[in-house]
Amino acid sequence: MSDWQTVIGLEVHAEMETESKMFSNCPVVDSVEADPNSAVDALSLGMPGTLPVINKKAMEYGVMVGLALNCEIPPINQFARKNYFYPDLPKGYQISQYDRPLAVNGHINIELEDGSSKRIRVRRAHMEEDTGKLSHIMGGSLVDYNRAGVPLLEIVSEPDISSAAEAEAYARKLRSILRYLGVNSGDMSKGLLRFEANVSVRRKSDAGLRERTEIKNLNSIRNMVRAIDFEVGRQIKLYRSGDMVKPATLGWDEAAQKITVQRYKERADEYRYFPEPDLPIVEISREMVADIAAKLPALPDALRARFVDELGLSHYDAGVLTAERAVADYFQKVVASGVDPKLAANWLTTDLFRMMNANEIQREMIDSIPVSAPNFASLLNMVQQGTINQSTARKKVLPIMWSAGEAARAIVDQQGLAQISDPTAIEASVDKVLAENDDLLQRYLAGNKKVLNALFGKIMGALRGKGDPAVVRRVLAEKLSDMNSS
Ligand code: ADP
Ligand code: MG
Repeated sequence: MSDWQTVIGLEVHAEMETESKMFSNCPVVDSVEADPNSAVDALSLGMPGTLPVINKKAMEYGVMVGLALNCEIPPINQFARKNYFYPDLPKGYQISQYDRPLAVNGHINIELEDGSSKRIRVRRAHMEEDTGKLSHIMGGSLVDYNRAGVPLLEIVSEPDISSAAEAEAYARKLRSILRYLGVNSGDMSKGLLRFEANVSVRRKSDAGLRERTEIKNLNSIRNMVRAIDFEVGRQIKLYRSGDMVKPATLGWDEAAQKITVQRYKERADEYRYFPEPDLPIVEISREMVADIAAKLPALPDALRARFVDELGLSHYDAGVLTAERAVADYFQKVVASGVDPKLAANWLTTDLFRMMNANEIQREMIDSIPVSAPNFASLLNMVQQGTINQSTARKKVLPIMWSAGEAARAIVDQQGLAQISDPTAIEASVDKVLAENDDLLQRYLAGNKKVLNALFGKIMGALRGKGDPAVVRRVLAEKLSDMNSS
């Protein structure tokens, strides 16, 4: 089994979320919300006599992505016609790019489970137009051209990905970068971001790569991982039984959780590409590249490195906090108001994420939770200064902040939750608990040290959970050692 290695190359289609389409001023609308065919014009419908005009914003977005993926941006790129017939493509050809793509020779770093990182090369990224969308229903097929002509960037990796887990890390990192850039929301359920996995397996001793299959229709990263695992297993089984893997286009049947063969490929697709005669060659000046490079926002890898170097976070925490830009922003706001970065990271990734999970709130929606960053910061500041203890903050204050949206300080004041650190007050509770629990006390004095925690719990209870745990432990220890020596 372990003799087989997995080889994966991903082709990613990302719509560039511009206001208008790639080659006309027809508006781009939400593919789910808008009525079918409500955002079409003569060009989207492929009417004869229409002429395309390049969307400058889409090209700038493409360059942004290219730079963020560490690509070279060649001085010239060119559109080409990719000819094929399909009902979602009214012109009979898709305007794409062929031998002169917008961006080439890049890479993304992904983090592996063992904490190391790996470079996955990006072969190219080219600009094209999206097609319409077919729905096969009511015994027929319907077509919606709202999506036809929406700017689409295709990002093609080298076959450097060696497992489904690496494919997942690559997909998540790429999605994160696109979201940081603000060019694509990463919504796979709406098809704004689509992954196709090219999969093959090889023996360690093989000189080259073997035949690959291509899995389409992957509507979530989770399904992509399952599909790859399934396909790798299928290919190994074929080779083991003496069969060959035939080049094919595959689909993932989510209901049945299995691969389906859409079609076998006898030979490579022949699209009869030729340069698009209706569009000029595109020149990307070095000034434009420098300009866009200067305006790129901090990207997840850079931010993560900063969180490690400047704030002293672990690589793991920094990775979790930078995966979503909204989370990184929230975290930075909390730290900016004087909260210790490690304390903030702990509370955010454990307590806040737990509450968000329980309420089915995605990480990217952190700005919409009832606990604002300043309010969360004020809670943590009170913990840091010892105004309240961790357990009061966690069990009493935070849940009220969440359910009532109230300010942390007000909750602590109104409910009298401030921590009790005064040794005299604590001593009184210790004495009372020891007097009322003579059985426990005798067991402790007889040598059963485990009883200590039970006593501690009872004292904290008597202090309504508000005791300063360190002071309580100290006073209790002192009392007990006095008794032992007397
Ligand atoms: P085409 O030009 O026919 O689309 P490419 O060679 O450009 O094919 O590759 C398309 C994608 O398939 C790329 O992401 C590439 O990394 C991947 N790929 C190529 N060969 C293999 C292979 N043997 N196994 C897995 N992936 C592969
Ligand atoms: Mg291809």
